[in-house]
Amino acid sequence: MRVGILGIQHESNTFLSVPTTMEHFRNGAMLTGEGIRSQYAQSHHELGGFFAALDAANIEAVPIYFAWALPSGTITAETAEELIEQLLREFAAAGELDGLLVAPHGAAVSDPYPDFDGQWLSQLRQNVGPDLPIIGTLDLHANLSPQMVDACDALISYRSNPHLDQRQVGQQAAELMIRTLRNEVRPVQAAAFPPVAINIERQLTADSPCREMYELADQLLTRPGILSDSILLGFPYADVPEMGSSFIVVADGDQQLAEQSVGELNEYLIQHRTQFLPDILELDAAIDLALASPQPVCLLDMGDNVGGGSPADSTFLLQALVDRQIDDAFVCIADPASVERAATAGLNNAVELEIGGKTDDRHGHPVKVAATLLSLHDGKFSESKPRHGGRTHYDMGQTAIVNIADGPTVMLTTRRMVPFSLSQLTSCGIEPQRYRILVAKGVHAPTAAYAPVCPTLLRVNTHGVTTADMQSLPFKNRRRPLFPFER
Ligand SMILES: [Zn+2]
Repeated sequence: MRVGILGIQHESNTFLSVPTTMEHFRNGAMLTGEGIRSQYAQSHHELGGFFAALDAANIEAVPIYFAWALPSGTITAETAEELIEQLLREFAAAGELDGLLVAPHGAAVSDPYPDFDGQWLSQLRQNVGPDLPIIGTLDLHANLSPQMVDACDALISYRSNPHLDQRQVGQQAAELMIRTLRNEVRPVQAAAFPPVAINIERQLTADSPCREMYELADQLLTRPGILSDSILLGFPYADVPEMGSSFIVVADGDQQLAEQSVGELNEYLIQHRTQFLPDILELDAAIDLALASPQPVCLLDMGDNVGGGSPADSTFLLQALVDRQIDDAFVCIADPASVERAATAGLNNAVELEIGGKTDDRHGHPVKVAATLLSLHDGKFSESKPRHGGRTHYDMGQTAIVNIADGPTVMLTTRRMVPFSLSQLTSCGIEPQRYRILVAKGVHAPTAAYAPVCPTLLRVNTHGVTTADMQSLPFKNRRRPLFPFER
């Protein structure tokens, strides 16, 4: 038997003014055939789980197409069409298949398809016909749509945020495919879309109130006939009707059991919705608290959450650390112009810089400083441990480490970089333990890397396209009513 593997993954922040183009995907991943296996088979990514389970069952894995870009703005119409065209072309060339394993992220938005995942999955379904099994994985930040559910026989999402279970979930989806192909089970699924959007601050799965909801989901799994259940916490930064939480239950041939069980999860969240309102910590209070807390302190910059699509050049925290002359702090900012300027000045030389705040006017002004270039790097590093995103190789482009007089140490990168790995710091000679404050531009994803080093983690409500205060964002297309916008 032969099972195809394909996916397009993007999390689109529709509040960002910069659109996502093919260039973003080329800088991420754009792979066909065996290139997918060589990049991902050994990784902690769900694709790695697909390969592992199929190989173990002696079923031929047929890698077909995979495209991924770092979360960013809405995908342009041209790029959306090109991605779907490439995917369908590669699929058509893959030969006879017995099933398809798909890996959408679930929160991709494009012009003209606000439900881009639903669009490409539906087109794929039209191409394969109604009978070929399509089973897939989802990021728990998916904004699920009925189209995604209709296009697939079963969808299973990650259960952990930070996402440390991606490979296991991929394996689980592939095992369900194998059992389906052997006629041992017949998956049917039901979904529920409660009128609740869960604030990003409440999305740590190991803590209350998420933990109790996952305990209920774990209990449901013990019910005879249930094959899987999924909680989609949702991605709040997309102005689309699908934005919000949702649930999926997959049952063995019993649609009514799936419907009834998904209804219980739905009811639980509606009943407990007020527990999912955030605790908000403002910037100055956060720095005061950081200075009085066990060190190093990781300050999580919620408004510039790079893994949520933000520009990685917000300066609100950097400006505050400079103003308060905190010199044992570390901040990373994407700023190719400053990298070049520092590199031109040369090692150990003074240079005037205007750092960050260049993408738009929502993430602070450039910070004018006198700095010294400490070191220059090619910006490539790798990570072998399970970390959010499941990736092993990173490239942040030419990278400069500069020291601001009476202020923090700043890593200036050419490309936007997600703070998911401490190798990002150590590969450039930065020892995280030596700092009093480490700024990480994220909310929960960085904690897999930072929590082992930082006894204190503080989530800071900064302005920006990923602000914790989601009610301040200009939504026009979200579903109504939707908690917390409507109580
Ligand atoms: Zn996610």
